[in-house]
Amino acid sequence: MTDQNFAGLGLAEPLLRALEAENYTHPTPIQAKTIPLILGGRDVLGIAQTGTGKTAAFGLPLLQNLSRTRVKPEPRTTRALILAPTRELALQIGESLNTYGRHYGMRLAVILGGVGQGTQVAALKGGVDILVATPGRLLDLATQKHLRLDHVSTLVVDEADRMLDMGFIRDVRRIVAALPKKRQSLLFSATMPDDVVHLAHEMLKDPVRVDVAPPTMTADRIEQKLFHVASQEKRRLLVDLLRDPAMARVIVFTRTKHGANKVVEHLEKANIPAEAIHGNKSQNARVRAMENFRNGRARLLVATDIAARGIDVDGITHVVNFELPNEPESYVHRIGRTARAGAEGIAISFCAPEEQAFLRDIERLVKRKLTVVGDEPANVSRGKAPTPIRDYAKKRRPKHRRQRGGQNQRAA
Ligand code: AMP
Repeated sequence: MTDQNFAGLGLAEPLLRALEAENYTHPTPIQAKTIPLILGGRDVLGIAQTGTGKTAAFGLPLLQNLSRTRVKPEPRTTRALILAPTRELALQIGESLNTYGRHYGMRLAVILGGVGQGTQVAALKGGVDILVATPGRLLDLATQKHLRLDHVSTLVVDEADRMLDMGFIRDVRRIVAALPKKRQSLLFSATMPDDVVHLAHEMLKDPVRVDVAPPTMTADRIEQKLFHVASQEKRRLLVDLLRDPAMARVIVFTRTKHGANKVVEHLEKANIPAEAIHGNKSQNARVRAMENFRNGRARLLVATDIAARGIDVDGITHVVNFELPNEPESYVHRIGRTARAGAEGIAISFCAPEEQAFLRDIERLVKRKLTVVGDEPANVSRGKAPTPIRDYAKKRRPKHRRQRGGQNQRAA
């Protein structure tokens, strides 16, 4: 958060009202830096990741700029185009813009792959002010002439590095090439690999570069705990931890889709309702899972890294790394789901003996040792009985007390 207020950044009254209703009192650093630039018509290269408030950083000034010229969009065109790598992120951007722009009454559509195109085609028919899209489906619809790109006056490419990881960067290039040359362009990326640098050169004109530190690097608000635990013990440990009602809204991360399904099965056997989201689920199942999680019907969401990218649910109390990610950056993304926008959060990681190398990479990246709770790694690999873990979701108990417990007490 910053000391500034939103009015001081030049935002108009209808947006200020919407922000007040959302209890956004102060802009985040990326918002404070980019909002005036975008209102002033500049191209922006934003180095920022999810959790920094970047959606509002581009969304608010975009809405205001569009509201200045209230022309009715022509059929099958859009005035602003926002590209996002995943369906979840696209839906979330759409939702945020609807929230921020609720007093403007603009026409917004979200188009994404994996679902029938009928309703999307219908939504585009009369033209829209803002279109949020994943690149593949967008190209599909444009090729079929359901959409023309020649009225786009503002382009936003969000999570450009993830576009690259997911193999979308060529699609993005093709889309950019089909847009009018005269436009405002904004590109956001958490990291800047070479291909993203090239894309930025191609699509931005004289951009201002805005760099904000990843939220979790600066967020000491996240308590980062670590359990050394054998793989076969992880599911039991998770169920034990979940006895603590303080774990009210939890995302559990696995490395694979299969792993996610197995965790959900196990939790359901233990009468703990959980939802899984990953790439093998149908779009409808993913949307339903997200809704159940968001409205609190499901306390737990089990997700893989790609599916969880961009998930934006407030009030997540705990992130559990059921399996450590093999890329340390994913750890930062994962734990960034908690402690959003000023809240406090706890990240709990389970590390099996075979995951030690991943742990070393993570600790090197975050420049700190995670706080070990429970057994030391040596005990785990020697197959000793695990320490009872009843209170570990809250805080660490003194060592001498922990050592007295036996397995019988686990069920208590
Ligand atoms: P983002 O980085 O856009 O995914 O936003 C991260 C989270 O912060 C979302 O849950 C937003 O609703 C929330 N948020 C964004 N800006 C603010 C703000 N200025 N004050 C409070 N919450 C915010």
